[in-house]
Amino acid sequence: AKRQGRNTWQWYGADKAEHSRHSVTLRHELHTALKENQFELYYQPLVDAVTGRMRSVEALVRWHHPVRGMVSPAEFIPLAEQTGQIVPLGLWVLRQACQEMAEFNGRRERSLRVAVNISSLQFIRDGFLDDVFRILEETGLSPQLLELEVTESVLIDGVEHVIKLMEALKDRGIRVALDDFGTGFSSLSYLRDLPTHKVKLDRSFVQNTATDRRIAAIVQGVITMAHHMDMMVVAEGIETREQQEDLARRHCDILQGYLFARPMPLAELCLLPEILPAN
Ligand code: C2E
Ligand code: CA
Ligand code: CA
Ligand code: CA
Repeated sequence: AKRQGRNTWQWYGADKAEHSRHSVTLRHELHTALKENQFELYYQPLVDAVTGRMRSVEALVRWHHPVRGMVSPAEFIPLAEQTGQIVPLGLWVLRQACQEMAEFNGRRERSLRVAVNISSLQFIRDGFLDDVFRILEETGLSPQLLELEVTESVLIDGVEHVIKLMEALKDRGIRVALDDFGTGFSSLSYLRDLPTHKVKLDRSFVQNTATDRRIAAIVQGVITMAHHMDMMVVAEGIETREQQEDLARRHCDILQGYLFARPMPLAELCLLPEILPAN
């Protein structure tokens, strides 16, 4: 199978039988992986664009496959979405992130918020809110310290339901961020209606503002617009000082990228200073 952009797979020279054999294998492997605890969460810091102070971390799932080694989420998340296994996997991620960060914060002076990626399928599924509230109760993480990252594909079955869900989360103090902003279609028109706290500018924009005037214009436009709607803006994929300075100059609020820190295991996160130097 060859990856063809987001969530689409094309099968070369593969008949239906091969396709289904392959998904049966993966489905089976994912099932085993969940049962045998082959997943781990890595955490990547998000820093204040002005001070460099760590504001929150994003939880990113890792699969330590016994034979294939580390498998990228870009590979298995779309497959888990296709098979529906994203539901149990997503629940595991949510519980693990809340539990680990509740413990982590217990040992720190300043608490960090944790952002968890939620697949659209998982977000709009019946019972999702109950799952979130139950997990917060069970783990003892304060709702104010949880943020959910969703992409605009969550709107596929209509906006009304999604607004209700987001309002319910907001009422409990849980934040919602719009991930991969700018990569979908109807970005601007619905932003008005969604009760979100944050937009995360996709790295395809962030990494090209310096060289592409049109992209720079879009980035500036999104930042200005988001601020007028009382939303914060995160720039993803900051790898160079040039990108850091450019986004900071454009009043982007929060930066995330390899320049500050890569995603890392919890044990390493515990060793980081409060303020991250760019390097
Ligand atoms: P995402 O949510 O957009 O996450 C950001 C991705 O960019 C992560 O890739 C992160 O490691 C990478 N990244 C961060 N800084 C930089 C940088 O400076 N340069 C570059 N080139 N990349 C950077 P990762 O961890 O491989 O995850 C890929 C995608 O898989 C995520 O994209 C997200 O869509 C999905 N994903 C990961 N974990 C989860 C999860 O627990 N649940 C769900 N539903 N999806 C997840
Ligand atoms: Ca994300
Ligand atoms: Ca993203
Ligand atoms: Ca992305």
